[in-house]
Amino acid sequence: KRLILIGPPGSGKGTQSPLIKDEYCLCHLATGDMLRAAVAAKTPLGIKAKEAMDKGELVSDDLVVGIIDEAMKKPSCQKGFILDGFPRTVTQAQKLDEMLAKQGANVDKVLNFAIDDAILEERITGRWIHPASGRTYHTKFAPPKAPGVDDVTGEPLIQRRDDTAEVLKSRLEAFHRQTEPVIDYYSKKGLVANLPAEKPPKEVTVEVQKALS
Ligand code: ADP
Ligand code: ADP
Ligand code: ADP
Repeated sequence: KRLILIGPPGSGKGTQSPLIKDEYCLCHLATGDMLRAAVAAKTPLGIKAKEAMDKGELVSDDLVVGIIDEAMKKPSCQKGFILDGFPRTVTQAQKLDEMLAKQGANVDKVLNFAIDDAILEERITGRWIHPASGRTYHTKFAPPKAPGVDDVTGEPLIQRRDDTAEVLKSRLEAFHRQTEPVIDYYSKKGLVANLPAEKPPKEVTVEVQKALS
């Protein structure tokens, strides 16, 4: 399947995507993860992207479309994929349609992680990440066995530099202004499944499975 996950920061996209990936054997492409790796490696792309990311604004369409175009060429992504955090603007959605049309392919489903803004600050400020695997923890909702340490590898967890209450405000503003129109774009094509993303993770997983069955 070719799937898109859309939802505001902290809505649970990263938490649900490994489960979807294992079940449907898809490749998982998260533009945020790819951009953070580029920033950490100080590549030309990372240098261009860093300022917008630190402010909680979107990186330019050309940059992200370029990385997605490149990543989708991987053999593991030919039969299907999960796009997590892309497209985030209508322009990106149109470019994606063009890329897929060239391969005679199309988007199968858009999972919309619907959630009230008020819940997100607590989720975002409590988030801890194991960067190498993308495993995500939460100080209150999904604590690691030992504080600050990944359960599987024993390696240290980090907090994202943009996971502050202040930067979250800009990220939410960008979501409402630039990304919500993307949900309308796919609704008109009849592709959107709305998920009750405020529910506990396991219940959201059940809803994801229903939407994909
Ligand atoms: P979240 O966990 O908030 O959903 P991401 O990890 O997906 O966030 O993205 C982090 C940041 O990376 C965004 O605030 C934005 O600056 C940049 N970014 C990620 N994906 C895109 C995209 N498709 N278009 C533009 N900017 C993006
Ligand atoms: P996104 O990828 O959409 O930005 P994450 O999946 O990283 O969001 O989730 C943000 C934070 O909220 C993480 O710390 C995660 O452990 C926690 N979380 C994810 N889903 C839920 C849920 N259904 N209920 C409570 N907390 C959750
Ligand atoms: P700085 O000194 O500017 O914090 P780094 O390049 O070490 O420099 O990392 C910047 C921040 O980016 C880290 O503190 C972390 O929050 C975030 N980060 C780096 N790599 C990842 C990743 N793979 N996943 C999530 N966040 C990451």
